[in-house]
Amino acid sequence: MEKNAAVSLRMDANVVVMGRENVGKSALTVRLLTRRFIGEYGDIQSIYSHSFVVDGREIALSIWDSSYSEDRSMETSLFEKRVQWADGYVLVYSICDRASFNTVCRLIQMIKLAKGYLSTDKAPIVIVGNKRDLHHRRMVLSEEGWLLALKTDCHFYEVSAAENYHSSLMVFHGVVDRMKNAKSTIKRPLRFKGIVKSMSAVFARRRTDSL
Ligand code: GDP
Ligand code: MG
Repeated sequence: MEKNAAVSLRMDANVVVMGRENVGKSALTVRLLTRRFIGEYGDIQSIYSHSFVVDGREIALSIWDSSYSEDRSMETSLFEKRVQWADGYVLVYSICDRASFNTVCRLIQMIKLAKGYLSTDKAPIVIVGNKRDLHHRRMVLSEEGWLLALKTDCHFYEVSAAENYHSSLMVFHGVVDRMKNAKSTIKRPLRFKGIVKSMSAVFARRRTDSL
């Protein structure tokens, strides 16, 4: 009886990890999946599956570790696709990179606009200031992260994917928490094929561009 209840409470959700290049999006994602910090991740983006149980409820996540598009192309269909695909957003900046913080500020506005979240809605967005271990190279104060979270009504964590697994766990549990309370956690069927297709199109274009 109890077991059945737990099964019916299963939550399937899509989470996209976004932010400028080199901020640690892949490091945070891979940390969650493998508990390890590898060091170098390349520029590959992927969609991963990961499940865990919170309060007896199975949470099955599809996590899109995305690659950054230049500002001018943010309004392209790929950006739109990511935003519409996702139920929750992990927006990462590096505390050593001011531009990456500015990008997160912009992303919040763009996501809220695209998904029609009102200022009163608790949007399923988590802001992450990564690379906390590099305090000697800090360019963004903790207070700035907290203030942004307050102003935009998002969750905020300052973490280090390099230092510990707990950082990553906290971030993804945080976004699950937000999704549970957000208005649109109703699952649409996944359309991996289409997404994979469009990602390969982007990679193919990049490769051609760099030739
Ligand atoms: P992405 O482009 O946002 O996916 O960034 P990556 O995950 O590929 O990380 C970019 C670089 O930053 C890599 O050299 C990582 O080893 C490094 N990195 C990621 N997270 C941390 C962190 O918390 N601390 C430190 N010191 N380096 C990190
Ligand atoms: Mg990456």
